[in-house]
Amino acid sequence: MTQESTGRGEWTRPGLFEVAPGVHRIPLPLPNDGLRAVNVYVLQGEDGLVLIDSGWAIPEARETLVTGLDGLGSSLDDVRRFLVTHVHRDHYQQAVTLRQELGMRVALGAGERDSLEVLREPGRRPLQQQVGALRTLGATALADFVEDHLKDAQIDELEWALPDDWLTEGEVPVGERVLDVVATPGHTRGHVVFYDVAGSLLFAGDHVLPTITPSIGFEPVLSPDPLGDFLGSLAKVRARPDARLLPAHGPVTDSVHARVDELIAHHGARLDEVEKGVRAGATTAFEVAGELRWTRRERKLADLDPFNQMLAIAETAAHLELLVAQGRISVEAGSEPRRYGG
Ligand SMILES: [Zn+2]
Repeated sequence: MTQESTGRGEWTRPGLFEVAPGVHRIPLPLPNDGLRAVNVYVLQGEDGLVLIDSGWAIPEARETLVTGLDGLGSSLDDVRRFLVTHVHRDHYQQAVTLRQELGMRVALGAGERDSLEVLREPGRRPLQQQVGALRTLGATALADFVEDHLKDAQIDELEWALPDDWLTEGEVPVGERVLDVVATPGHTRGHVVFYDVAGSLLFAGDHVLPTITPSIGFEPVLSPDPLGDFLGSLAKVRARPDARLLPAHGPVTDSVHARVDELIAHHGARLDEVEKGVRAGATTAFEVAGELRWTRRERKLADLDPFNQMLAIAETAAHLELLVAQGRISVEAGSEPRRYGG
């Protein structure tokens, strides 16, 4: 067992880390270096282990998980259940892949059902709905580029298998612990977090991340106001007693409240910038995204890779829709691409 240590990027170091009494963190590698790793949390259940999130189904992630469990004197055969915070590959895919072989149960938030049904449609091309949305947001050239790039990509049917259980709000007993399932739509419509109230722990998935902000407004079946949903879910978490933050990406930190306050402030400032972009004459989400600066390094939209450009434009649209809902800007009814005005 290793001591948890701090330092930027340090959290991705492979190992088994006890982050609270009886709770272990195993960071698993991802195939792309953007997020670098995903944390899987191991809990002792009644008759075996319960894992929160599962990792991306790549051989390196499986090996790292096996090595981590070995440190607890356990193996994959001891895993009874995966509780998954949301449908994204880095959280869900390895659970359904291992289930195929080992038969453990997989649970996912009920709000993910619509997106998962779309992901399972035969003949669907990867990101098909998101590319369609890009056109509505005024990013035609980028949509063409991504569509062309993905035209021969295959979808692996297994990875979008259905869960065994759809989670709704309520309590899930895990051994001596009780986890409170809280619906936190925003990053995805069916995102859930798990509160260990007695232990003052929040298994936050991607809802509250300590060093980055989760993407908003980028999923096959969109909510009409994804940012409004996300901010509502942050307020929901903020209204509960403070807890230790156990995120899916990044190090464990002491206070959920402290980070939620930062995220709310970040989006408040971002809303002001987006409104300013519209008042300066940008009319589509694509144009407004071009006025903003992205990532900690303040990069221009055109300097991001195509995938991150998609995320940036989707996120800008989410801010625009909330500004419309708040009455701060207007939208031209029926316009295609969708046009906003001051
Ligand atoms: Zn994630």
